[in-house]
Amino acid sequence: MKIKILFAVVLSPGLLACTEQSASPSKQSAAVEGRGADTAKWWESLPRAEWSAYERVAQDIDWFEIYQVFPNVYAIYEPGQFEEVISFLIIGDDKALLFDTGLGIAKLQPVIARLTDHEIIVLNSHGHYDHIGGNHEFADIAGVEVPYAINRTKGASNDKVAEYVSGDWLWKETPADFDAATYDIKPYELTNFVKDGDIIDLGGRRLEVLLTPGHSPDSICLLDREERQLFTGDTFYLAPLYAHLEGSDFDQYKTTMERLAALTPEIDHLMTSHNVPVADAAYLGKAASAFEAISTKSAAYQKTDGAYEYQFDGFSVIAPKPGD
Ligand SMILES: [Zn+2]
Repeated sequence: MKIKILFAVVLSPGLLACTEQSASPSKQSAAVEGRGADTAKWWESLPRAEWSAYERVAQDIDWFEIYQVFPNVYAIYEPGQFEEVISFLIIGDDKALLFDTGLGIAKLQPVIARLTDHEIIVLNSHGHYDHIGGNHEFADIAGVEVPYAINRTKGASNDKVAEYVSGDWLWKETPADFDAATYDIKPYELTNFVKDGDIIDLGGRRLEVLLTPGHSPDSICLLDREERQLFTGDTFYLAPLYAHLEGSDFDQYKTTMERLAALTPEIDHLMTSHNVPVADAAYLGKAASAFEAISTKSAAYQKTDGAYEYQFDGFSVIAPKPGD
């Protein structure tokens, strides 16, 4: 049965998010058409207005833009590359947690050292290339003990990631020591494993680990019940959510969104990993409803190249073929 397409989505290329490093983005879907070398000048829509609500922190390395989004929560934004990825530094009384390390285009450790002199624990929201690029600069890296996450520790060679620093994927001047011809994701070692329900105590600040597979097998969120904040990684943000990548699992993603939606009464703010740093927690319920509507085939979609994009208010979901 053919479903009438009720809308035509005009995608802003800059609204897209992280990709699976082993996949060819240009082949993933029409939603990623226009990415990379073919992308129209996506950066012309920058800066995104949402960032103006936050205090920008001056620092030495121009590649990063750093904003204090809440007390002791810093967003480390890389708007110079198409992913517009955001890492978060969460500072407690005794330790600090770095939730993702970005693209690895510029050195991150010196930037973090200027924000805190606490011991740093790195924890990745998941192992996609744009979240682990700076891992090798840090000694203490926690992760989820699943094969996917273990495999990511090998890094990715230049031939796997060169595309992401070519053509129109980059618009901003890169650091002097950056060379696209040798850019790679350097290997790193997981020194600690986390599991669902673990509490990471930073001193005066406790973060609960939630395993949230779906976007990838190793996706996690961090819940700060005291501050009513959820750090969502790529599980939710205000852009196309990727449920169709190699390693993605739509049904798991749906279950994850139901679980997160049930936490909405305990959360005010979502700290999201692409484009803009903060979203309202009410989106968790909307996202759960979106996955439900897709699974019951009651949502309209736009067929893309090998995947289906379902548009909702403020975000979309790119899913594999739902079946007829
Ligand atoms: Zn991702």
